[in-house]
Amino acid sequence: MALVIPEVSRTFNEFLLLPNRTRTDCLPESVDLSTALLRHQAGQAPGLTLDLPFTSAIMQAVSSPELAIALADCGGLGFLHHNQPIADQAAQVRQVKGNGGAKPVAVGAGVNTHDYADRIPALVAAGADVLCFDSSDGYSDWQLAALTWAKQHYPEVGAGAGNVVDAEAFTFLAEAGADFVKVGVGGGSICITRDQKGIGRGQASALLDVAAARDAFCERTGQYVPVCSDGGLMHDYHIALALAMGADFVMMGRYFARFDQAPGARVVTAAGVVKEYWGEGTSRARNWQRYGHGGCELAFEEGVDGLVPYAGDLRDGLTLTIAKLRATMVSCGSVSLAEFRGTARLTLVSAQSFSEAHASVLLPDSSAVAGTSAVLGVAAVRS
Ligand code: IMP
Repeated sequence: MALVIPEVSRTFNEFLLLPNRTRTDCLPESVDLSTALLRHQAGQAPGLTLDLPFTSAIMQAVSSPELAIALADCGGLGFLHHNQPIADQAAQVRQVKGNGGAKPVAVGAGVNTHDYADRIPALVAAGADVLCFDSSDGYSDWQLAALTWAKQHYPEVGAGAGNVVDAEAFTFLAEAGADFVKVGVGGGSICITRDQKGIGRGQASALLDVAAARDAFCERTGQYVPVCSDGGLMHDYHIALALAMGADFVMMGRYFARFDQAPGARVVTAAGVVKEYWGEGTSRARNWQRYGHGGCELAFEEGVDGLVPYAGDLRDGLTLTIAKLRATMVSCGSVSLAEFRGTARLTLVSAQSFSEAHASVLLPDSSAVAGTSAVLGVAAVRS
């Protein structure tokens, strides 16, 4: 008989952080956002680290070489996508690496479970710093075989795996040698996997389950395997929630697709300037991973082809997001991500309190609404 997990599957919007006591030394400028990227012995130096716990999604509409360079410049890491010929992806890796000054630019590269024996040697030769097996369902024998091969032939190159949504699948990949594990099925902003296949889990529930498995694995083996929360981060504060719930770093598509450095075309619409953003499971992306290297028609799509609000230069956008993240961590009394993960207190919110979490007055640009001035008057009195 099928197993029914008793807990409801929950999303980020169902949680808020409680403020913890803020010490006098806990200031935004003291907050250290550095994080381990790869598996390491607990309590020892983590090897490859990021100054910023942000990575870009392994997607055509997101991770161009330009974006990877700008993100690495800010302390994060771009993952160049693999839905392209091996030579093209290797050329992109070389383009990013060739851009470095005195401190070389780090770059990641997505790989698949089909042509890894040819793709990985080319990417490593081109200078890729870290690899990630990229799949909407990473709990498979194919990922086991591919990870085993990668660890046998390139033990010195970090290889992440995923995606998973529960403890059992995390442990499977960690035991197979994954250097980090990516969490998230069905939560991406362009994703229709849940509609099409009925598969997925609320990202908050998935992350909490996997983070607990990561800690149990560490307790059992002494090996710390970082966890990446991938997709579904619709607001800046969702990043803080993901990190509080145990993610070591996050991966974002929609967030980065809005910036100048992302490959999508900029389009002027009546509603404002937008950029194109499409999923890897769309016909437009012609997913090489599952549907053949020459590209062919999909039996059905798992993603949509859409638009996101244009947000200018990546560096300006990141500056704002980082300022909010630091402020949240200060309110939660944390100056490091490990402290944040270890001490954060989260509360579930009711639908009613969620609906009241936003400004409850009409804003000046809603002047077409009857009675606006009266409402603004109330706002002035309240403030
Ligand atoms: P976002 O940050 O919410 O836009 O989600 C980005 C994530 O969605 C990626 O990192 C992938 O894990 C996932 N993704 C990318 N393309 C597709 C698709 O076509 N269908 C479903 N999920 C996708």
